[in-house]
Amino acid sequence: MMERGPIQPGGIGETRSTCPYCGVGCGVILRADAAGGVTVQGDPDHPANFGRLCSKGTALGETVGLEGRLLAPRLNGQEVGWDEALAHTARRFAETIATHGPDSVAFYVSGQLLTEDYYAANKLMKGFIGSANIDTNSRLCMASSVAGHRRAFGTDTVPGQYEDFEQADLVVLVGSNLAWCHPVLFQRLTTAKEARPAMKIVVIDPRRTATCALADLHLPIAPGADTALFNHLLCTLADQGRTDPAFLAHVNGYDAALAAARNAGETGLSPEALAEFLALWAQTERVVTIYSQGVNQSAQGTDKVNAILNCHLATGRIGRPGMGPFSVTGQPNAMGGREVGGLANMLACHLEIENPDHRAAVQGFWAAPTIAPRPGLKAVDMFRAVEEGRIKALWIMCTNPAVSMPEADRVAAAIRACDFVVVSDCMAETDTTRLAHVLLPAATWGERDGTVTNSERRISRQRPFRPAPGQARQDWRIIAGVAARMGWAEAFNWHSSAEVFAEYAALSGVAGGLGSDFDISDHAQITPQGYDALKPFVWPAAGARQGGRFFAAGTFHTPDGKARMLPIATAPVAPRDPAHPFRLNTGRIRDQWHTMTRTGLSARLGAHIAEPFLEINPQDAARLSIAPAALVQVENAHGRALLRALVTDRVQQGQVFAPIHWTGETAPSGRIDVLVPSVTDPVSGQPDSKAAAVSVRAFDAGWYGFAVSAQAFRPDCDYWAIARAETGYRAELAGHSAPEDWEAFARTLFGLPQAALTAVTDPRRGVVRMALTDAEGRLQAALFIAPDPVALSRGFVTAALGEAAEAALLSGQPGANRPDAGATICACFGVGLNTIVSAITEGRALTVAALGQSLRAGTNCGACRPDLAALIARHRQQDTEAA
Ligand code: SF4
Repeated sequence: MMERGPIQPGGIGETRSTCPYCGVGCGVILRADAAGGVTVQGDPDHPANFGRLCSKGTALGETVGLEGRLLAPRLNGQEVGWDEALAHTARRFAETIATHGPDSVAFYVSGQLLTEDYYAANKLMKGFIGSANIDTNSRLCMASSVAGHRRAFGTDTVPGQYEDFEQADLVVLVGSNLAWCHPVLFQRLTTAKEARPAMKIVVIDPRRTATCALADLHLPIAPGADTALFNHLLCTLADQGRTDPAFLAHVNGYDAALAAARNAGETGLSPEALAEFLALWAQTERVVTIYSQGVNQSAQGTDKVNAILNCHLATGRIGRPGMGPFSVTGQPNAMGGREVGGLANMLACHLEIENPDHRAAVQGFWAAPTIAPRPGLKAVDMFRAVEEGRIKALWIMCTNPAVSMPEADRVAAAIRACDFVVVSDCMAETDTTRLAHVLLPAATWGERDGTVTNSERRISRQRPFRPAPGQARQDWRIIAGVAARMGWAEAFNWHSSAEVFAEYAALSGVAGGLGSDFDISDHAQITPQGYDALKPFVWPAAGARQGGRFFAAGTFHTPDGKARMLPIATAPVAPRDPAHPFRLNTGRIRDQWHTMTRTGLSARLGAHIAEPFLEINPQDAARLSIAPAALVQVENAHGRALLRALVTDRVQQGQVFAPIHWTGETAPSGRIDVLVPSVTDPVSGQPDSKAAAVSVRAFDAGWYGFAVSAQAFRPDCDYWAIARAETGYRAELAGHSAPEDWEAFARTLFGLPQAALTAVTDPRRGVVRMALTDAEGRLQAALFIAPDPVALSRGFVTAALGEAAEAALLSGQPGANRPDAGATICACFGVGLNTIVSAITEGRALTVAALGQSLRAGTNCGACRPDLAALIARHRQQDTEAA
């Protein structure tokens, strides 16, 4: 095993850390270079990934530049010193609390924070300010799993481990596009199935996602019908004698749950497909049910979770190798936030805010002047309170709610109108930082020092490979600075992340004494050296209680020690709104992360999908006269978005899908959360993010455009979406009406008033093509305008930036000597669609493995392997049809 060496800024030190993106929590080995950059490799010794990385993790080294970083505190737009910024923040919060009470202030934090940061924020709000108005963006991600776990198990406990995926005979993925959202787990599953083809995989998803490439059975369930499906399953288990009476002795509520399940209702599946699934699940002992945002992000999310848990509890298939329910989390430290009390309705270490003994224990441990007496405002309610003026001072840490919250425009307006807004962020310009009175520069991945917890309860270290730039500081230090200026210096007098972690571990020992499952008190005496060397471990870590699985013995964290099955009523199908007849599903794409502040810096990641899009079924598109690649307008009472039409039968009629990643910085009209209503699950408070009712119609575009520039630029037209390229920037454009003077438009767009300009125009066809060059004839920018979506080789045009401009450039197509690689499919090796299709159609590579041998495609992170398989399958189908 490689040992971690010292960090040597400017040298060749080696650092073990953890990827900052999804909840898989992959270990990485970082090697800093002399220029402040870093190379990244999967850590072969980390138990989450054993050396694997996905495209996002592989590209981490391309995202550590300082462009766009917030490097100094700002007060009302002016740079100030830390002391002034912290003192001002402390004074405004103290004044607000003194005048309006502790519940007039709030923190909105993030699953991107490290546990130590979370701990400090939670301690300040709940123990010293005396309110529980601290909630996390993880509320948008997995709060329904937390609520479901607590209802069934008494605690928020994930029972299993990742290795269960590999040991199962049946893996059921519900509302989880694992291939794109948790790619390394998908790789592990793929490898397991290749080694043991008898293993069955079922994907339950209204949409045919990339994950379906691995599935033996895809169930295109009706949206929201998960409770119906698992209620059917519970009935089947009962009727076929597949329940486990011995385990049911440890479970309450079976009869009521079964009685409710008898009214299961419709699933939208064919009787054959439904029967096949029920038989498979009922007859397979080792079954893991993995679920994710498709279950959680729902107005019935908690019920969906409990409908799944009911089936595992009824059969005793829980906490043993290869079996159990498994919630995979979206963010790198969503689990850490759950453990440390980042949610408004929990105390630290899984202690309960409603329990007076728990409150007293936490207050006593902290020697705090107070303790929050009741749960605080959950995310959606918090921003509603901001809008209504009940929250008068708001501190947003490490997240971008002006884009990511439901009804994002309304949330942005509420933040803008709030009396006092502080934003801690690593980036200077986000949709949210623009609304702040005080901006506090935060350290980010590669600079921060702390811990995160992944989806299998494994706590790993994030370690810095370089010092924070400028005046940036780690979040817990910023929080402690404000706390000190509010009069609580002693309680926040930590000198290192190790000290914060040790205090947290000690508090978990108190919690363990009160019966909490979360106890890592073995680490309460950890030294800075021990913290530095800390290896990934699974909690609990306290005396004889060490890691592993939960609940196989039938002991739960409820007052009587029994689990609880819940009667789950099948959710009624919402009536269709004729004015908004489509159901909008939202989610992630393979190569971007959240609002793209980091992944958007990588040209390689932007090459896969460079603009926001709307998947729409071919029959719906034909009915609405929407051509492939045209722009569509998606609208409801909350907002409006313009998106590129992706006509595909991956979505069913009446349903559309759009990604969540684009912002005011990258595609202002592609912000999809402006359309999501702030309807929430009544138990978890999690928003219903996959069920907005919308209308869809063709956008009346007068012109379409494609632009490239060596320098950053910000278009000003009805639609634009900008992305990084290796040579500069590329943008898609469109507008209702064409400007009168395209040359003036181009010069203003690119900020090149003096550049030499070559133009080819055809006014009759509405075609304009312009190249702008410098004094040496090198291409600085180019603009292509057409009445329809611009057809040209984007790779060819983008690659020409900085090169001597050729006459062929304005044709938009490379010559025969330079074939167009097409849109990037394999991000790791930059292999394009056209290159892959050529290899397939010419018979050079007819399997995924052969494509790997021939082109290297799919041989690194493997995230594109489902796409490669789909291209091969499409080619085979075309061959069959032609024969
Ligand atoms: Fe990072 Fe990818 Fe691993 Fe997720 S699967 S932690 S994004 S490398």
